Amino acid sequence: MRMEETRLNKVFARALAVALLLGGAAVAHRAYSLVPVTVNGQQCIVAQGTRVGECVGRYSPAHPGNMVSAGERRVLDDGAGRPVVVLVNGRVATSDEPARPGDRIQAFSGTDVTEPTTVATVTVEPPVEVIGAGPYEVVVSPGAAGIAEVTRGAVSGEVIATQTVEPPSALVVKRSAAPASTGVALTFDDGPWPGQTEAVLRILASKDVKATFFMLGSRVKVAPETARAVAAAGHAIGNHSYTHTYLGSAGPGRVRWEITATNALISQVTGVEAHWFRAPGGILGPTATGVLEQESMRSALWTVDPEDWREGQTAQELAEAVVKAARPGGIVVLHDGGGDQSVTIEALPLIIDGLRARGFTLVTLDELGSVKGAW
Ligand SMILES: [Zn+2]
Repeated sequence: MRMEETRLNKVFARALAVALLLGGAAVAHRAYSLVPVTVNGQQCIVAQGTRVGECVGRYSPAHPGNMVSAGERRVLDDGAGRPVVVLVNGRVATSDEPARPGDRIQAFSGTDVTEPTTVATVTVEPPVEVIGAGPYEVVVSPGAAGIAEVTRGAVSGEVIATQTVEPPSALVVKRSAAPASTGVALTFDDGPWPGQTEAVLRILASKDVKATFFMLGSRVKVAPETARAVAAAGHAIGNHSYTHTYLGSAGPGRVRWEITATNALISQVTGVEAHWFRAPGGILGPTATGVLEQESMRSALWTVDPEDWREGQTAQELAEAVVKAARPGGIVVLHDGGGDQSVTIEALPLIIDGLRARGFTLVTLDELGSVKGAW
């Protein structure tokens, strides 16, 4: 029994020794596997095998450098900026190398970089300005587009800045309770002029527009066929004097003759009794005013003069000038005679389309309502 006890004691003692030995080894192993480091000056203990990057992430997270948008500073691309720099004991380290006991780890945050930007020139639509109220509307000013330079983020598309190069002018719409007069009259002076007058007639016919032609007696005399063509097409015919004389400085007899001889010729050639008179240069004078009264005629001046006889103007510029300046009740002075009017002829379809786009109807002076007869 005693011997048995002794044996048992031995077994126990041996087991204890093994246990102690194993335990000691475990303690020793554990002591060895803990790695003391500093991360940005902070004392840390990490398990053996821990990577430098993990140490930084756990104890002193560094901001990664991203690519951010130029406007809202949104992150567009993670890590696409200048990256985090990690030093181990003063030398540049990779984040996946293992930390060693005593390592002094320093992490420097990355820096964001801003996306590149692009600059584009864009047109700025004119703002719409509404005057008055009611169901009827007329465009009283077409406005004009402006130009701006827009800076955008090349990746995000965010608008960073808009710089006005040329401001737009407003499109002005007039609203009213009752329909406003939308008539505009096209008038053609100094004809008839064979070739040019027919070209004008063809365009007016194709666009279904009626106009008013202020003819010179001297021109009706040399081009009666052309004068007749104007009348046959249903246009209004007015008197523009016989010889294009400025009536304000002519004698009374001459003034009377300029008006009445032209009336007689127009009547004889076209069958039309002219009741509109347009003074050459817009200069009427008291004598002519008296003659018009006696002849039951009315003076018709103009409200829109694009100076279509002036050289160096393109058809587009001419049309734009007319469309821009037109107002309800407007009278546009153009020329089918007096010289080369090919730019006017080229501009005419643009003028008609442009005025109609603004809501105008094209009428003769008879249909206009009120006509400007004096300055
Ligand atoms: Zn004239």
